[in-house]
Amino acid sequence: MAAIKTPALTVGRIDYSETSQIVTFFAREHGKVKAIAKGAKRKKSAFEGALDLLALNEIVFLERGGDGLSILTACVMRDGFPELRRDLDRLNTALWIVELLSELTVEGVAHPELFDQAVATLAALARGAWHPLSLSRFEAQALGHLGFAPRFAGCAGCRRSLDGEERVVFSCRLGGGLCRACRAGHEGVFPVAPGTLALADGLAAGRVTALDRVRVAEPTLADLRRLLTRYIASLAGREPRMLRYVT
Ligand SMILES: [Zn+2]
Repeated sequence: MAAIKTPALTVGRIDYSETSQIVTFFAREHGKVKAIAKGAKRKKSAFEGALDLLALNEIVFLERGGDGLSILTACVMRDGFPELRRDLDRLNTALWIVELLSELTVEGVAHPELFDQAVATLAALARGAWHPLSLSRFEAQALGHLGFAPRFAGCAGCRRSLDGEERVVFSCRLGGGLCRACRAGHEGVFPVAPGTLALADGLAAGRVTALDRVRVAEPTLADLRRLLTRYIASLAGREPRMLRYVT
């Protein structure tokens, strides 16, 4: 068993025994890691608050192959984002961000850029540097990094540009918009404005960087939230727990 040291966010944890917990991390150099933290529930645990959800840590773990759990040997907190815990809206948004990471990633596949974006997004949320599009941008970029890049700009059926289409529907199964000619026979689709698809495409591809300069009308924002959340719920296979608390 090799020891692996990496920055990691705590994205989940459950009790395992009287004294131990299984902690899920999203690690910069290793993707999702499920590790047993022995003695984590003892009063004088070596891990202290570092296992709290949302915490950014430096962890060391021993990797086990197969179905075996990794073993956490060290966890030092770098940032606990205390500001996020003082405001319920911010806390709910942050908990949704880590739930998304936990739900859509697989163990052992590293996504360092997504890790950096998640940390930057949590840090921006903590200091209140938050734009109405900040969460949607993170979600769209996460989908891209995880290989679920949705076909936002062109039709998922015939690949024709959706520019000029008056009405478009989005298919979660195909991961893209469908033009009028292609939508017949597709189930589980929902309407979305072409402008919303174009905005989502720009966010996913990282073309929309200076959010301060972006003004988005309320209906477009609502349309974008619906598009991203329904697509993510479809990929997760169920309604994520925190999604209902996030606006
Ligand atoms: Zn088409």
